[in-house]
Amino acid sequence: MSVTALKSALGHLEIDENPVSVRAKSRDFFWYSPVLKARMDHLTADFVVAPKSEAEVIEVLRQAHAHGVPVTVRGAGTGNYGQAMPMRGGIILHMKNMAAVKAIHPGRVVAEPGCLIKDLDAATRAHSGQELRMHPSTYSTATIGGFISGGSGGIGSCTWGVLRDLGNILRLRVVTAEAEPQVHEFTGEELHRVSHAYGTNGIITEVEMPLAPSYDWVDIFVTHPDFATSVRIAGDLGHQDGILKKLISVYEAPTAKAYFQRVAPHVAETDNLLGLMIAPQSMDGFLTFLARYPGASVIFRSDETEWPKEPGPVFEYGWNHTTLRALKVDPSITYLQVLYAPGVYEEKVAAIRAAFPGEVIQHLEAMRVDGKMAFAGLTLVKFTTEARLDEIIHQHEAMGCHVFNPHRYTLEEGGRQSTDATQLAFKRQADPKGILNPGKMIAWDAPDWDYTRMYTYQDMQAAE
Ligand code: FAD
Repeated sequence: MSVTALKSALGHLEIDENPVSVRAKSRDFFWYSPVLKARMDHLTADFVVAPKSEAEVIEVLRQAHAHGVPVTVRGAGTGNYGQAMPMRGGIILHMKNMAAVKAIHPGRVVAEPGCLIKDLDAATRAHSGQELRMHPSTYSTATIGGFISGGSGGIGSCTWGVLRDLGNILRLRVVTAEAEPQVHEFTGEELHRVSHAYGTNGIITEVEMPLAPSYDWVDIFVTHPDFATSVRIAGDLGHQDGILKKLISVYEAPTAKAYFQRVAPHVAETDNLLGLMIAPQSMDGFLTFLARYPGASVIFRSDETEWPKEPGPVFEYGWNHTTLRALKVDPSITYLQVLYAPGVYEEKVAAIRAAFPGEVIQHLEAMRVDGKMAFAGLTLVKFTTEARLDEIIHQHEAMGCHVFNPHRYTLEEGGRQSTDATQLAFKRQADPKGILNPGKMIAWDAPDWDYTRMYTYQDMQAAE
């Protein structure tokens, strides 16, 4: 591997080799996890290159292959699994200059991957009153390419399901890291080769995403004194097919009082909170629905309520923003990502809640799974030791609740803990030298791994 030779071969492109900014661009939100923080803090690339076109991406990959230098692609670096961290140095391929919205049609948009999600939405709204079906709570900072490659779902998932559901990504254009890089256009089953693959088997250079009608969503906070009833309201609302909604979050007490500083003056310690986004024309239906649940109280609606300190977008309390808000108040907080399946979520949430009193605080996000309501639990956990965290995760699994472990940096451990044969097969073809985001796919590095302990890639720092 010759980084120096590669740098001079790419000297005519936009390169950043200032050590301070290279280090900054080598980091993401890995530090959310005390486990990843202890292991990944030292990682940095050798230099950053920011291509302006697909032709420049091809040139970078051709040269990187020839010189055997790793390439870690970066959108905005908001991933919280250490996905965008360069484990073996080399190049950060920064997509910031490939941010164009190329075409908007009824129901779909074509864009470059480095486009910020908020810019994409602004363009489709202005063009024809349309918006993305779903976006992460990092709407203002994340890129669409990073969301497809490193994210899963978010605001909109209560209606539309998650990114991997058929129809939620329409087409991806992808460049490989072969001696002579190839360009592929993927649709249908082929999308699974590269979606949520952390840039380990190709660089996405164009995306085509479905659109929905855009509304001036009403942001709402509702309180209820009973947690189980709050979960029921959330699930029942999700099943109200006539009410248009984009977000249904549930926060167990005392989350709102303890961690949501602008909401805290308006709630009691014992209040559970729901954060909701409802279309304006559905407000009458929503209020009629809510009246069926005694004790539920609307404390904020963005079209009517004025608080001396505005709370800001309700989605910036949800999904992984909840953890961020809690961390700011209590640095010992960490989190899990749990799946509470359709049909059983009420009993599972109740059982898990009873199993860890005072140590685990429930935070649920409604999402549609095969047409039925389910919940992603982005559970807050008071962190003590890695061993205790592992024990909590194992107990969740023993109780029938899968955890997408956010304290692991590999695709498999943060996912289903098994090889994704489709992604692996495409990596064999697209990245024969294994230079794309090394260390993130166990199936490539250690095909016989048995998942009984944390996978440790070669350069990883031991926990202190
Ligand atoms: P990055 O972090 O830069 O990259 C993510 C992964 O994609 C990396 O592995 C990177 O190598 C790869 N990648 C980037 N661009 C490309 C490309 N062009 N081709 C191939 N691979 C590429 N995630 C959710 O799904 N839902 C949420 O609601 C959510 N909320 C969050 C809230 C907070 C506060 C934080 C810190 C994170 C949250 N996340 C969430 C995680 C993350 O913000 C999102 O997944 C986001 O969409 C990632 O976009 P990015 O541009 O920052 O990607």
